[in-house]
Amino acid sequence: MKAPAYLDYAATTPVDPRVAEVMSRHLTMDGIFANPASRSHMPGWTAEQAVENARRQVADLIQADPREIVWTSGATESDNLAILGYLRANRERGRHMVTSLIEHKAVIDSAKAAEKEGFDVTWLTPQQDGRITPEQLASAMRPDTVLVSLMAVNNELGTINDIAALAKVAHEHGAVLHVDAAQASGRIALNVRELGIDLMSLSGHKLYGPKGIGALFVKRDPDMRIEALIHGGGHERGMRSGTLATHQIVGMGEAFAIASREGPTDQAHITALRDRLLDALAGLDGIHHNTDIQTSVPNIINLGFDGVDGESLLMALRDIAISTGSACNSASVEPSYVLRGIGVPRRLALSSLRLSFGRFTTEDDIDRAAQALRQALIGLRERATQ
Ligand SMILES: *Cc1c(COP(=O)(O)O)cnc(C)c1O
Repeated sequence: MKAPAYLDYAATTPVDPRVAEVMSRHLTMDGIFANPASRSHMPGWTAEQAVENARRQVADLIQADPREIVWTSGATESDNLAILGYLRANRERGRHMVTSLIEHKAVIDSAKAAEKEGFDVTWLTPQQDGRITPEQLASAMRPDTVLVSLMAVNNELGTINDIAALAKVAHEHGAVLHVDAAQASGRIALNVRELGIDLMSLSGHKLYGPKGIGALFVKRDPDMRIEALIHGGGHERGMRSGTLATHQIVGMGEAFAIASREGPTDQAHITALRDRLLDALAGLDGIHHNTDIQTSVPNIINLGFDGVDGESLLMALRDIAISTGSACNSASVEPSYVLRGIGVPRRLALSSLRLSFGRFTTEDDIDRAAQALRQALIGLRERATQ
């Protein structure tokens, strides 16, 4: 049997072979393995150079200064560091932050942890298209608001927020803007200066780099203070201690350098594949777009299907690797909080699927997925009416 067609790039991407090759040169005795913090010998300096080269590669994709990049273990840690680290360091300036109901759990749970520490959080409900409007944000701002955290691209929907407009509102009210860009980097232009971003979370493994590595962009500004979450040797200018994972870091650097060169080509390839899939499904009834493709990245589509239940649909689709619009708890199947957050009815949310594509997706993958979906829908709907 053929391996399932992988259409779950928004969950994670495979490592690009060019990235794996660079990583493999930073592990063994004949490679660059030394501790980048070892200042007393040549192998240490060489490792430090490799880390600094990668820092520049990551900074270049977002037009930042390399000194604004802090290595972390992934976007989850970056979100925690941005939210808890910023709020704790700026306690005396204010205790209020604004975020939304459809952020990634790493943001939502960090904000909830802040609430437990006595911070006040306003949870914005997005528009039906999954976006937060500048007007909505403006009406939530208070004199004691210090932080706004809103994502650039939603991981379940693919919708793109107008970050420049949101940053303007945050700044007019004296707050800083944190952006979770785990799904946005390499997919949309992310010039931190033009957009007015103060803090931004990045992940390696959503962009053909390895898992377990990420970064937080921290704008260089005398007023910018972040309290560390992880204490130790004072690495990363005191914001994140721990021996730097050279092989992971050079992997993320290479992945981001490739994205700088090939991001637009990737997106053109992916847009063609997305359109091919939508064309193939065009004849079928009862398919809902959970978001508007005009305001979303082309690599993620979220579709709801009338007249079938999500679990049967997934069972019938074992030949393609995709995500559902539901999450299994120990007790029950719950519809995705993101789909519920944009007002998708419970039943439709439970029968929704996220399909996400990437650099290595082929026309054959798309055709197999379209064929499987068509068969599953027709079969399940027939059974339902018998
Ligand atoms: C994947 C993802 C994260 C978490 O990133 P990790 O590097 O896996 O910790 C955070 N935010 C968004 C939007 C994501 O898609």
